Amino acid sequence: ADTVRLLSSCQVITSVVNVVKELLENSLDAGALSIDIKLENYGFDRIEIRDNGSGIKAADTDVMAVQHYTSKICSHDDLEHLATYGFRGEALGSICAVAEVAVTTKTSEDDVGTQYTLDLTGNVVSQKPSHLGQGTTVCALKLFKNLPVRRQYYANTKKCKEELKKVQDLLMAYAILKPELRLTLTHNKIVIDGFFPRPGMDCSLASSSNPDKTFIFVNDRPVHQKDILKVVRQHFLAQYPADSALNRYPTMMLNITVPASTVDVNLTPDKTQILLQNKVPFSILLSFSLQTDFDSQVA
Ligand code: ADP
Ligand code: MG
Repeated sequence: ADTVRLLSSCQVITSVVNVVKELLENSLDAGALSIDIKLENYGFDRIEIRDNGSGIKAADTDVMAVQHYTSKICSHDDLEHLATYGFRGEALGSICAVAEVAVTTKTSEDDVGTQYTLDLTGNVVSQKPSHLGQGTTVCALKLFKNLPVRRQYYANTKKCKEELKKVQDLLMAYAILKPELRLTLTHNKIVIDGFFPRPGMDCSLASSSNPDKTFIFVNDRPVHQKDILKVVRQHFLAQYPADSALNRYPTMMLNITVPASTVDVNLTPDKTQILLQNKVPFSILLSFSLQTDFDSQVA
């Protein structure tokens, strides 16, 4: 039965763009007006879609990913005046068969949200409370992890880029169709946490002879990264000209979180030099720096 399920799922879900389309349509069917889509490694490591739609009723959560379960039609008549994208109850179950799926949901009736972890057959295997607000977030990890040939087929940057382009085109189409919809797509998002002292704050200033007071981490790993350090210093020079004129820098801390697959830590044996697939964009640091009493901000 598992093999049959896998085979039929492979036909429904053949690529990242299928997953995104099915999940997006579920969000639209749930009346969402805001949908955020996040991909890591072109979606092959992680696809996450968060919406602010109706949420899934507690009574439906046990069966939501069971093959052919749908809450969208009750009778044969409903088929004649179908107003939803989905009605076959196939998508969620099929995605479960080819990825690790978790669904977090909260309706207006629920006091708190719940995160459900599903297994390969679409059954709920565990659940825990979630802080997320009304709506549904579906997260699919390790797409095609059990289909090595398909995974291999996509292990090619050119193919992956084509896939990403398809996702962008798809989203563009829905965005044009529904101007009231707020739709975002992020790929390999960089999260920056940091600490910079406020201007004028009494803090231990380093000097040019003792400049090494900027702590930079990538994925919690301390690194000596000249290019990032340069961006941080540039930022500081612009923000605090008085101090920078003296060539003094305060103690600063920056932790950059990127998907593990986009960083190579084996450049040097001590792993303090790393290679980032994408340059940390200056604009991200800049938006980060606009907050003056920096505790932490997600860029
Ligand atoms: P279908 O869309 O054909 O009904 P799916 O497998 O895509 O089938 O989804 C199964 C069911 O899970 C839906 O009928 C709906 O009840 C619920 N569901 C899935 N995604 C969402 C969502 N984002 N918001 C609300 N309900 C959802
Ligand atoms: Mg659907």
